[in-house]
Parts: sequence; C-alpha cells; structure tokens
Amino acid sequence: MQLKFWRFDLKLVNTWRIASGLAGAGGTTYPVVFVELSDAQGRKGTGESAPSSRYNETTKTVEGFLKQVDAKRLSFNDVPGSMHYLDQLERDNDAAKTALNLALLDGAARQRDLPIYDYLKLGFTEKRHVTSFSIGIDTPEVVRRKVQEAAAYPVMKLKVGSPDDEKNLAALRSVAPTKRVRVDANEAWQTRDEALRRIEWLARDKNIEFIEQPMPASAKRSAMSWLKERSPIPIFADESCQHVSDVEHCGECFHGVNVKLVKAGGISGAFAALTAARRAGLKTMIGCMIESSVLISAAAHLAELADHLDIDGNLLISNDPYVGATAHKGVISFADAPERAGLRVQARTGAS
Ligand SMILES: [Mg+2]
Repeated sequence: MQLKFWRFDLKLVNTWRIASGLAGAGGTTYPVVFVELSDAQGRKGTGESAPSSRYNETTKTVEGFLKQVDAKRLSFNDVPGSMHYLDQLERDNDAAKTALNLALLDGAARQRDLPIYDYLKLGFTEKRHVTSFSIGIDTPEVVRRKVQEAAAYPVMKLKVGSPDDEKNLAALRSVAPTKRVRVDANEAWQTRDEALRRIEWLARDKNIEFIEQPMPASAKRSAMSWLKERSPIPIFADESCQHVSDVEHCGECFHGVNVKLVKAGGISGAFAALTAARRAGLKTMIGCMIESSVLISAAAHLAELADHLDIDGNLLISNDPYVGATAHKGVISFADAPERAGLRVQARTGAS
C-alpha cells in the first residue's frame, strides 16, 4: 500500500466564529489534510482529516502522525487490523486516524462494489435525512443576512455564547419566525445556574429543538446532571462526548450526543459511538467540523444511525475540492453522487 497526503486550505464563505473564538486561520480559512491510499492492484481510497485545536490536533500533528505510518501495515482487506496497527502506533490523534479510516473503508467497500452504507449493512433512505444549516456568532445584521440566504434550509443551528445572543436570536426570528432551530453554546456557560437561566430564556421560543453543550466538558458531572434534570429542552453533549468510551457518562448528564467522525477516529469510531448511544437510550446526532465533501459524505453514510444531522461543513466553504453527497434544501442525497461505491466521492476537476 502507498500513502499520499497533502494539506489544503478550505476557504470559508463567511468568517466563522463560535463561543470559543474564531475557527481555523483568523476565521477565513480552515486547513485540512487529504489522504490517498493505493494498493498494488491500483485500488484507491480517499480520506480527510479536519483537525480541531479543541481536541489538541492541528494539520501539523496530523501530518506528523501520517509520516510515522508504515503504509505496508495497512490493508483494504483488513480495516479493523489496520486501525489496530494505528492505535498501537500512537494514542489519541483521532483526526489523523479518521483520514486513514475513511480511505481504508473507501477502498474496502469499492473492492466489494458497495457504497459504505451497504458495506456497513445500514442502507440509506433518500429524502429522509435533513441537515441543519449553521449560523456562526456574528453581528445581528450579518445573522439576519445569513438566515435570509439560508432560507431554503428547513432547520437552522445558531451558535450562542456571546453578549449578543438575544439580539442574534431576534435577528434570526425577524426573518424566520417559526423555523426549527437548534442552539449550540460550545461550553460557554460556566455555572449550572447561569446555564439554566440561559436555557430557560431560550425555551421561551417554542421552536427551539435542543441545545448543545451548555457547560464546559470539564464541569462537574453533578452540575451537568443537575442541569439535565431541570432543563426545559433536551441537552446534547458535543465537547463532552468524544469517543464511544464517553457515551456511558453522557447518559447521566445529557439527553443525546453529537458524534463527529474526527472526534471518534472516523466512520468506524463514530459507528461504535452512535450504536452505543442508542443502546444507552440517548438521542443521536452526527455533527461535523469545517470539512470538504469527503468527510461530509463519510458522515452521511452513517445517517441511518442518527436522529439529527448537522453535516453542513461543506456548505460553509467556497472551494470544496470534492463532490459527493448533496444537501439540496438540506436533504442529504447520494442520488447525484459521482461514484456508486465506497465513499461515493470524486475530486472536482479544476479544483484549487
Ligand atoms: Mg457543537
């Protein structure tokens, strides 16, 4: 097997800010790493890593990890064995491992001429899976414009955790009075009382579906379970739920979990986390970072395991170098995917 990898700067359509600050480089670009595996028979697999500094990964750490990989130890015929080798190589580095997990599954499923969702025996129902469209923290004027531009999307996700939260929600409501909205606080509220106060304010809006991660992942478990008992709307874990191993304690503190491929170590890790969450009676959501159509399509293959989707990272960029699953009016579809097997993605011709 041969491994190639290269860094690529995804360009954001709008500056991207959340409660913890600007994303990527000054909020205008988000660097990712693409990988390509090819075996002696010429079979190929594509993958992507969108590392997040929140989880102590950058393109530098991803490239550093990939440089250590002996590609001869990887095989499309043995994805679990290949992942075991990567786990032995170094702990953590989940975003780096994600890129290789995607490429391995892409090649493995292509070898059997199956889309990954059939390779995993999940299937995929067209017209069933709808992604939300995310609105980052901004001025109320910009929030209003972004919500207007996203009129075709039936569900919004509003980032909160700034002094302008009230004005921003009012700006959203001025153009989308009854649209379904999810809210993401990205760990903004430091105490359980502050979090409850903010959630009670949000719950006055009857079209807010749930809130993600109101308190820091480092908050005491007793504070988070206190909040879960009292919250008038469901609370989803994001930063508190990185791996399948976090799912158990999330049952105590949250109503649902937001699983992301780059947190969990790829499609395989996300599959494990989503199925464990369902077994624990938690609602499931698949989220994303700022990502190209490679990672977004990879997440879409797991759609049948999710109650909610927030896989819009590729809709927020202007130079996606790949095509794959589409999200017309928010409806995730593989109907126009350029490939019928594997990840069902292809490099866009003339991408830069
Ligand atoms: Mg989140």
